[in-house]
Amino acid sequence: MRIAAGRGNYSPFRLGEMASSVFLTSLWLMNDTALVDPFGRRIEYVRVSVTDRCDLRCFYCMPRGFRDFEEPEHWLSFDEIERVMAAFARLGTRRIRLTGGEPLVRQNLPDLAARLSALPGVEDISLSTNATRLAKSAEALYAGGVRRINVSLDSLKPEVFRDITAGKLEKVLAGLMAAKQAGFRPIKINMVVMGGVNDDEVGDMVDFCLEHGFTLRFIETMPMGETGREAAGHFVDLRRVKERLADRFELIPGMMPGGGPARYVRVAGTDLHIGFITPISQHFCETCNRVRLSVDGTIYTCLGNEHKLELRPRLRAGCSESDLEAAILEAIALKPERHEFRERPEKVVRFMSMTGG
Ligand code: SF4
Repeated sequence: MRIAAGRGNYSPFRLGEMASSVFLTSLWLMNDTALVDPFGRRIEYVRVSVTDRCDLRCFYCMPRGFRDFEEPEHWLSFDEIERVMAAFARLGTRRIRLTGGEPLVRQNLPDLAARLSALPGVEDISLSTNATRLAKSAEALYAGGVRRINVSLDSLKPEVFRDITAGKLEKVLAGLMAAKQAGFRPIKINMVVMGGVNDDEVGDMVDFCLEHGFTLRFIETMPMGETGREAAGHFVDLRRVKERLADRFELIPGMMPGGGPARYVRVAGTDLHIGFITPISQHFCETCNRVRLSVDGTIYTCLGNEHKLELRPRLRAGCSESDLEAAILEAIALKPERHEFRERPEKVVRFMSMTGG
């Protein structure tokens, strides 16, 4: 059953309160629930930002001296996050990615992962991290049900890494090795390619991932907030990077598990998969399958737009389960068709760290 949001389609919420939850639960039991946006896209993936704070300051994401973070009393508690994600799961969400800021800045994250991976209907829990704190928590995250990890790594040179992030490369490398040891598969490396900053390291990053059995994804800069717009000056069209790699390797079209927008190739004769995330040169909005939940309980329906719905006031006003499901449908009905990063780069005010990429 497609639960279509918007455009006046049939909605179970016209049924009685209990009837609607039973109706949805029965659909879920038949594993037949699909949350569909106004453009017919199935929304089966939610990126949950558990904090807007981070221990790094990547210049294309958060300004160096930035301190204006969300107040802790506005953070959704683990109980509230679990309740919201249970409602999303009843409506057809199957994948949850834990993000930030830096999610491992939030204490007891493995506990939250365990609670979310136990939710009926949830099939996949993954994590996006800068890995500076991963060495300490890799085992606990794995025990908590996380199986796939994406790690941001823009350089293999300590001084370049420091210039980009204001952080220490060795901490990230230690985190990566701990994740490998713990058994996460795949481990994906996210490299934001920037002209005159790290684009000379593309080949080294390929060799690094070949050596360690990691999957590599190249990402184009995006005009998210002032920092994102300033970084756009270093924009690199990833089609050029792919052409350069094709001079060195035989690249075969490939696939990788996960619900993200990367277009993959495999390097012939190896298991190395390389993904290209190209929001600017070749956007992927027509196949979008996700929304974001920010630390303060706001559903952002699109990374490149401000269409959103605040859940926290409703949660703290004691809304019922069907009210919560209705609010989620209301949010999905707001989802825009696509971003306007090229047409209106000034549009998105918030930093990437506020909704976790
Ligand atoms: S920019 Fe918006 S519509 Fe496009 S893929 Fe990202 S979230 Fe989806």
